Amino acid sequence: MRKPFVAGNWKMNKSLSEAAELAKGVADATAGLNGVEVVIAPVSLCLASVIDAVGSTHVGVSAQNMHWAEQGAYTGELSPTMLKEAGCGYVILGHSERRELFGEGDEFIHRKLRSALNHGLVPILCIGETLEEREAGKTQQKVDFQIRAALSGIAADDVADIVIAYEPIWAIGTGRTASPQQAQEVHGAIRELLTTMYDGSIASRCRILYGGSVKPANIDDLISQPDIDGALVGGASLKVDSFAAIAKACA
Ligand code: PEP
Repeated sequence: MRKPFVAGNWKMNKSLSEAAELAKGVADATAGLNGVEVVIAPVSLCLASVIDAVGSTHVGVSAQNMHWAEQGAYTGELSPTMLKEAGCGYVILGHSERRELFGEGDEFIHRKLRSALNHGLVPILCIGETLEEREAGKTQQKVDFQIRAALSGIAADDVADIVIAYEPIWAIGTGRTASPQQAQEVHGAIRELLTTMYDGSIASRCRILYGGSVKPANIDDLISQPDIDGALVGGASLKVDSFAAIAKACA
């Protein structure tokens, strides 16, 4: 049985005080939900205050990105050891905004993923196709390529603990969601790919989230699909009520 997983990607939103307040609100509103892993990802400036705000509750905290090196001349970056020391348990890697707006390539994402695993951080690996790729019938090709590149040489046991987020780029922040059937088709194919690359038991342990305009109104249909194990939520994670409603639907 895979425990459902819901992560809120706050992107570049919320000030220090707003972030701590939202984090506390999420912890209170999702208290007692045992059937779902709840994670929030504030901007790096707010990581320490959010970790403090959620304290020893069930809510995990994720970074939105990191460098693979432990330290060095990498202006503007954060290292895995810094994230661990701060109390982060997770890190989002390869979000389409990092890939498309900041030019992060598959090799960089692979190095980051390997480093996150080596430092005991759970990677939330994002993959997904553009609208042009979907319309050209290249969705699976793109997703397969991104997964193979990110997981190249990663041991099977480590792969089982990685969280994969399938996020069609055309559905992120657009209000346009993949239909539950479209999402299930890709999620099912991802699990088959993991079975081919590793084996059925690894594939059946790995959680695969859907991301792209997830809201309280569409989560029920998405989470009822057999290979959708939760959601990576952007816009709807910025309000306690909508994020908590999504977490409850997944629990
Ligand atoms: C995201 O940024 O990962 C995301 C899915 O955003 P939204 O829910 O706003 O589409």
